[in-house]
Amino acid sequence: MKSWAGRILRVNLSKKKTGVQEFDSDFALTWLGGRGFAAKILWDEVKPGTDAFSPENRLVMATGPLTGASLPSSGKLLVAAKSPLTGGYGDGNIGTWACVMMRKAGYDAFVFEGKAERPTILKVEDNKTEFLDAKEYWTRGVFETEKDLKKQYGDVTGVVGIGRAGENKVKYANVVSQEGRGGGRPGIGAVMGSKNLKAVAIKGTGELPADNMTELKKLGLEGYKEILSKPSYKFWKRQGTVSTIEWSQENSVLPTCNYKEGVFDEADAIGGFTMEKFKIGNRGCPQCNMTCGNIINDTDGEPSELDYENITLLGSNIGLGDLKKIAHLNRICDDYGIDTISTGNAVGFAMEASENRLIDEKLEWGDFEKVKALVEDIADNKGKLGSILSQGVRYASEKFGHGSQKWAMHVKGLEITAYDCHTTPAMALAYGTAASGAHHKDAWVISWEVKYGRESYDEAKVDKIIELQRLRGGMFELLTTCRLPWVEVGFELDWYPRFLKAALGRELTLEDIFTIADRTYALIRAFWVREYGERWSSAMDMIPARWYSDPLTKGPLKGVKLDKTKYETMLQLYYKKRGWDNRGIPTKSTFSRLGLDDVANELSGHVQLSA
Ligand code: SF4
Repeated sequence: MKSWAGRILRVNLSKKKTGVQEFDSDFALTWLGGRGFAAKILWDEVKPGTDAFSPENRLVMATGPLTGASLPSSGKLLVAAKSPLTGGYGDGNIGTWACVMMRKAGYDAFVFEGKAERPTILKVEDNKTEFLDAKEYWTRGVFETEKDLKKQYGDVTGVVGIGRAGENKVKYANVVSQEGRGGGRPGIGAVMGSKNLKAVAIKGTGELPADNMTELKKLGLEGYKEILSKPSYKFWKRQGTVSTIEWSQENSVLPTCNYKEGVFDEADAIGGFTMEKFKIGNRGCPQCNMTCGNIINDTDGEPSELDYENITLLGSNIGLGDLKKIAHLNRICDDYGIDTISTGNAVGFAMEASENRLIDEKLEWGDFEKVKALVEDIADNKGKLGSILSQGVRYASEKFGHGSQKWAMHVKGLEITAYDCHTTPAMALAYGTAASGAHHKDAWVISWEVKYGRESYDEAKVDKIIELQRLRGGMFELLTTCRLPWVEVGFELDWYPRFLKAALGRELTLEDIFTIADRTYALIRAFWVREYGERWSSAMDMIPARWYSDPLTKGPLKGVKLDKTKYETMLQLYYKKRGWDNRGIPTKSTFSRLGLDDVANELSGHVQLSA
């Protein structure tokens, strides 16, 4: 237990009570942290069929054994709950001082249950907890809320909070910190809002736990130096993820006009080099020396933090080729606590619905003023169109009908992120099999796939997806450290077992971590299947029909689309390699191999399991 406090703060909002739950090294080594802790807690405590907005849902905020230490990019917090958007497992990670402070206050995780009688802020100062009246903050932006709390309690206070989208239970409301670092796309902010919890403010003064802190600090320092020496570091600091715009355009995967196309006529106007002309600074997560948030002033002269995903979804995907306008939409989404990716996806869907006259509203591609007004309505869950879109594109497509389900760009109800997959079957499968619905964070396989050869549907692609899921959706989400040093500047993976040795006082190899990752994936799958019961089938892992029925009409790959049958064959191979049956459900022997016999027993009360 050298690197965990072994303590979870339990918060009952209905009773205004807190308590400490201790856990032992068995629990710690079985689930490691972050996503592992969250999956285990949600599986154990959220009964199937629970309304995501009921007091019985749990909101988990979890760290890992390296969180907050002075080593590269360790300042991430995982937030999770049963998702109101998908009805399954949902999580996300946020760069925030709140996770550093949580660890310094002597906790590895917070778990919230119940519902506060009135808007509340939880203040935690080491062992002291306080429920504060949040009446004056309710309806206020999350930026202002955080600033005000820091003014009152000191700059070192870590704050995570929600904006009005969370308060209004927009189903893709997220949790926000540090003016632009948001996480929990599948509506974790809405779950927080349903509990009347506006924010959590944390201050800790203790030492971080570690077996050998001197060695950990020494390794951390070497790690930071190593990152600085990487050839791609300088360019990364200039553009961060924004340079991916040019890459995606060159490779015909830049989502354009609701993923109709993979190229955008105005890509140069929103790309990395244009962004550099407007750039006024960088922002980033704690403990990171490759800070990747690019700040530019928006149309109102206010700073907005841009990255590849928010530019693409609020830019090319809605036909908007003006970076300052995109920055404005991005800033209001962040301040309202609404996920920029899902918002851009939903607005693009509405624009196509308008083009096809499925809705009364006239909403043309790139119409900034109309989008601004629509984002207000979405965040307030109001107006005819805004209130429909605030429920996500799956719901909107059921409402609009007329075949719009074919171009509702989601998997399992979670809106697809910023890669068009007409020409990339492996990336499509990565979306199809990600833990919480269509998210690239589990397996960003597309850059490898483009080099490998995008036309094939072979075994190497399935292997690569599983490898990446073990690392990105696995190791980094369990440790809650940022994956980008490894992905973007080539910070070698063998640093992590070395960090863990110093922190834990014992060896934990990459293979050991992959086993925990597989266990966590199987448990998350079980959570989904238990919720959906007999309605669960491999169709849950299918991708939008647009990608295999409407070929691209522009760019060098004009005419290309996916092959549905080959995708399904690749999906079945993925299941086989995971030890899941042809419905995508782990078999009894797979559960057993991962030490999850109890999970298999319970799940067999909901669906028939294969041997
Ligand atoms: S690389 Fe970017 S996302 Fe990762 S920790 Fe640093 S600032 Fe945060």
